[in-house]
Amino acid sequence: MGNRVFTIVYLVGLFGAGILRGFYAWPNRRAAVEDDRRTSADTLLLIPASFGLGILPILYAFTPWLDFADYAIPAWAGWIGVVLFVFALWLLWRSHAHLGRNWSPRLQLRPDHRLVTEGMYRYMRHPMYSAHWLWALAQPLLLHNWIAGPALIVTFLPLYVYRAPREEQMMLERFGAGYRDYLKATGRLWPRRSRSCDSDRGARTVESRNSKSEIRNNSEARNRK
Ligand code: SAH
Repeated sequence: MGNRVFTIVYLVGLFGAGILRGFYAWPNRRAAVEDDRRTSADTLLLIPASFGLGILPILYAFTPWLDFADYAIPAWAGWIGVVLFVFALWLLWRSHAHLGRNWSPRLQLRPDHRLVTEGMYRYMRHPMYSAHWLWALAQPLLLHNWIAGPALIVTFLPLYVYRAPREEQMMLERFGAGYRDYLKATGRLWPRRSRSCDSDRGARTVESRNSKSEIRNNSEARNRK
């Protein structure tokens, strides 16, 4: 088995990410859903991804079953993995904190769903998926095994390719021009640096559209009373 230190870093991170998910998922567990876009393909794609992220690494760490596929890399490469992994966990935490009640593990919209454009969402549309990609890149540097190491790269790719465009379509249908501005102002997985001024302007536009629609919704509600 490869370097134990890096395996332990991975397991601690996996456990921490589980706690983080639970912490943010718990208050949402009974929140109403207005638009539910779950599909069986989406559900099926989640299964290999959970193997890639959790089951295979755990088998690698606690059983000798995958030992035949071990490889060795220099320690400095492992430490690069640690840095990437810590950054992935930080990004996961920040995106959860910013999405708050608007987060759901599947493609769903709440009745009072708000388009979040602050924090990491000011610069990119999918920081949580970026965190998963960073995690996937860190994994082979931490778990030195040809099966457990690249497992998330292989299993997250189809989920991401399937989900990201559908999620953007769902948001576009819900938030219309506000989301179209947001699309122009932000990068998908990485900040759109060359248009940072536009990005600020776009984010402000979306914020103002958000608040305008909140004002409109409030006044409509008042009129109905
Ligand atoms: N793709 C995002 C969020 C993943 S969680 C990311 O990678 O950070 C998926 C859910 O988040 C979707 O069902 C959608 O309801 C919600 N969501 C995604 N982007 C959002 C945004 N900018 N504002 C509010 N909710 C958002």
